[in-house]
Amino acid sequence: MPGFELFGPEERKEVNDVLETGIMMRYGFDGPRKGIWKAGELETLISEKLNCGYTQLVSSGTAALTTAFAALGIGASDEVIMPTFTFVASFECVLSVGAVPVLVDVDETLTLDPAAVRRAITPKTKCVMPVHMCGAMADMEALMAICKEHKLVLLEDACQSFGGSYKGKALGTIGDAGTFSFDFVKIVTCAEGGAIVTNSKDLAVKLDGYSDHGHDHVGVDRGADLHPFLGYNFRISELHAAVGLAQVRKLDQFIGLNKKNYTQLKAILSQVPEISFRTIPDPAGDIYTFLSWFLPTEEAMRAVMAELKQQNAAAGNMYWYEHNWHYIRKWDHLAKVATLNRLNEAQEKALRALRTDGFPASDKVMGRCVSTAIGMLWTEEQTRERGEKIVAAVRKVMAKFTSPLTY
Ligand SMILES: *Cc1c(COP(=O)(O)O)cnc(C)c1O
Repeated sequence: MPGFELFGPEERKEVNDVLETGIMMRYGFDGPRKGIWKAGELETLISEKLNCGYTQLVSSGTAALTTAFAALGIGASDEVIMPTFTFVASFECVLSVGAVPVLVDVDETLTLDPAAVRRAITPKTKCVMPVHMCGAMADMEALMAICKEHKLVLLEDACQSFGGSYKGKALGTIGDAGTFSFDFVKIVTCAEGGAIVTNSKDLAVKLDGYSDHGHDHVGVDRGADLHPFLGYNFRISELHAAVGLAQVRKLDQFIGLNKKNYTQLKAILSQVPEISFRTIPDPAGDIYTFLSWFLPTEEAMRAVMAELKQQNAAAGNMYWYEHNWHYIRKWDHLAKVATLNRLNEAQEKALRALRTDGFPASDKVMGRCVSTAIGMLWTEEQTRERGEKIVAAVRKVMAKFTSPLTY
């Protein structure tokens, strides 16, 4: 699954280029850097690979989302519609710019349910942020139609789905902007890093300035840069970009390895009639980092997870419903408004409402779902073994649930 599984001489070579000159900053020092611009090179490579106009590298996926919101003009009291199933960073970034996260149900795509998005729109809604979870995409056609109709900004959190596509277009390049994370467990890693992609030149200029203190990057003398707007420091270092350069060059290989193991595992799980699979709007655009599957009931899935644990075979089978990082049920710190500094009134009000808001439609999906993380380096034998353990656990549990003796 993650790029760190195939860290090797290519990454070391790129990092070494930077260490040879000692210029670890992406801007300036034109003479001593001897023509080495790893961050710039990686931005060009990503734009080419994803067939988009502009790529802005930053220090993390979280920085990418924050920068994107700021550059898209989303701020105080603006409502951002986002899913109940994502990584905590998605709402952190909404809050960081003063905006209000509006949590909305997911369906069996494990991403935003378009009908639930429609119901959540208010006069304050400014942005819809689908999250392409676990390597596969949201129903972009439906979401684009909603955003067009209501004149809303569409920001794709594609942090988990770098290299994925939807109907021939790279994920992240379909909406007004898209973000990626290159943290240590993503399909491509820089150790820490992120990127924003867009086709808008105006937006690209804002992303560039915002991520470097608002410096306008116009002249040749960095010290003379002007500041048309305020910014922050979300710069990536040359060392991190160097790792990413080697990793992005291997992306197709990574996806190929994932696909091979995913396909084998899916064929094994398909033997069980009670197992169904995640709805994927464009299956060819998956990056195959996870195989997500469902059982008919939450009770059955809990029993299967207990069985797998007992057999020491639960590792890598992610039951998000019980996970502290990814699903609203366990985001107590959010509902409790456990912030270190005060939020604005609109934010506090929205978060307090989470204590009483239920998400039964999401619960019904996530309670029955497990995502099996795909290893890039699994052998055929190891993949078969994993699949067979899941199949055995499901068969055992389902036999118990349907046996007349237990009723
Ligand atoms: C990883 C991730 C992020 C944040 O990325 P970092 O680089 O870890 O800051 C944001 N959103 C989603 C969906 C992620 O999975």
